[in-house]
Amino acid sequence: MKIFLDTVGCRLNQAEIEHLAGEFRAAGHTIVDSSKGADLVIINTCAVTAAAASDSRQKARQAYRAGAEKILLTGCLATLEQDLGEQLPGVYKLVTNQDKARIPALVLHSEQEFDLEPLARVPLPGARKRTRAFIKVQDGCDNLCTFCVTRIARGKATSTPKETVLRDVHSALAGGAQEVVLSGVHLGSWGNDLLEGETLTDLVQFVLANSEVRRLRLSSTEPWGLDDRFFTLWEDERMCRHLHLPLQSGSGTVLKRMLRHTTPEKFRQLVHKARAKIPGVAITTDLIVGFPGETDGEFTESLRFVEEMDFADGHVFKYSARAGTAAARLPGRVHGKIAQERSRMMRDVLQRSAISFSEQHINTELFVLWESSSQQGDGNWLLNGLSDNYLHIGGLAETDRCNKIDRVKIQALTSDGLYGEIIL
Ligand code: SF4
Repeated sequence: MKIFLDTVGCRLNQAEIEHLAGEFRAAGHTIVDSSKGADLVIINTCAVTAAAASDSRQKARQAYRAGAEKILLTGCLATLEQDLGEQLPGVYKLVTNQDKARIPALVLHSEQEFDLEPLARVPLPGARKRTRAFIKVQDGCDNLCTFCVTRIARGKATSTPKETVLRDVHSALAGGAQEVVLSGVHLGSWGNDLLEGETLTDLVQFVLANSEVRRLRLSSTEPWGLDDRFFTLWEDERMCRHLHLPLQSGSGTVLKRMLRHTTPEKFRQLVHKARAKIPGVAITTDLIVGFPGETDGEFTESLRFVEEMDFADGHVFKYSARAGTAAARLPGRVHGKIAQERSRMMRDVLQRSAISFSEQHINTELFVLWESSSQQGDGNWLLNGLSDNYLHIGGLAETDRCNKIDRVKIQALTSDGLYGEIIL
């Protein structure tokens, strides 16, 4: 059977879809790079924002128009909207997050478990070919952030046992991945539900000690609950100097209404500690503007705090009410035009600090994992890649160095990002 796998949203969805690809391959099926001509299309949907939900629907419609025989929807939107299959043409099955692990069995009508141990991970074909492997180590969340639909869609926090994580890491490395990204809904809660009393720090140490992974990155990590040993992880040079810490708002009162387990002061201390322990670290974030009841004063407080934090990059989301969340019932809806303007102002601040972070690296050397390449007419290869501290870097080489890590002297900042020369 020819199967096309598609995903919307977070790295966790990406990790899950890659895992599914491995299972279907193990069962003898072929993963293809387009829904055209596919016997089965599986879309891992997202519901985190109204835009992500709309993207998910759009992908299903596109697959139907491309002539896909059968469309299976899973993920957060498919979990929250049980009538999604009736809304969209061509959908033959809806599988909730709770049953997601059984998709191969449900599709193939077999309860066989697919042992991935001897199999090398194969990157997904087409545009989504990955030199970095996203590996799911945790799912769900026990917090109650009032805007969050993910915790409703994904249920209680569960951790993947570290031996299973290690098996997936070995599979990724055998398939040629240079970098492994450990992913979860609430990564920092890894271990809370396991009996051993271990934490995310123990998991990462275990992976580093038992694998030849060249670079290890943590995906989004909530800015609380990290143990005292957490920053010692970066004594190992394979750890990517990048922390994505979702702040959501820089206003203390808005954070309270969001039920976040942090305050601007605690967040500031965490960022200072990270910068002291990990020189050159890129700290990136997510922000919501226009949260219910956000006053001009609260927004200004948030904006000033974001300026002070000097983030290396970040995403700004205009608040969108998600059904079933507590925030959807809060009074004080912020008018669309005001939210739009706040979004613009917040993005400007982040853009300035991102440019400043990039500029600080001109005339320095960084290790770059080349993620894409294209041959130029004169025989040169144009390369694009990512530094361990999450800077996008371009360069030229005489040979195709895609999926290799090179030392690069950074020379200039262009509109496409940083540009540098490979040092051999
Ligand atoms: S900690 Fe993250 S995943 Fe959990 S409820 Fe809050 S925003 Fe959602």
